[in-house]
Amino acid sequence: MSKRLYPHRRVKYWYVYDIEDICALYYDLGLHPQTVRTWIKNGLKTIDQSRPTLIYGNDLIKYIKAQNMKGKCKLEFDQFLCLKCKDARPVFQNKTVLNQENKMLKARAHCRTCKTTMFKSYKMSVYQDIRKTFRVVDVLELYDCDTPPSKTHLEASKISPLNESGQGSLF
Ligand SMILES: [Zn+2]
Repeated sequence: MSKRLYPHRRVKYWYVYDIEDICALYYDLGLHPQTVRTWIKNGLKTIDQSRPTLIYGNDLIKYIKAQNMKGKCKLEFDQFLCLKCKDARPVFQNKTVLNQENKMLKARAHCRTCKTTMFKSYKMSVYQDIRKTFRVVDVLELYDCDTPPSKTHLEASKISPLNESGQGSLF
């Protein structure tokens, strides 16, 4: 993994960027489209699922800031990065909300110090550890991770309650 830092000040927060635009911003740093796709996989928010992939400058700034800070402070499993405190923080009331996205678990929690909302991505494989560490208050869109990424979240959420009720009728 490259430790390269991308200065977020080049991004205008009211602009909308596609992947090529972002690469052009950091042309001198050799930013590759594949790297931007990895950012998206790791949690960089896109406007929607359609092509071309578009990203709000605002979201890009947030992501780059978080990435640049991650290099500077080490997070324990039960800590999140608080963008307001600019440091690793434990979770308020030990509560987290999970949301599955692109085969990652996106956890949302509040900073114990300043109550700011914080985000962190975990691998699917640590799901049980998350349950042991935090009080998971809600799990959204947690469906079979073999579901092809081409399926929309809507389709997936339609499928899972059906499966559950189908199982329930067996007993
Ligand atoms: Zn904080």
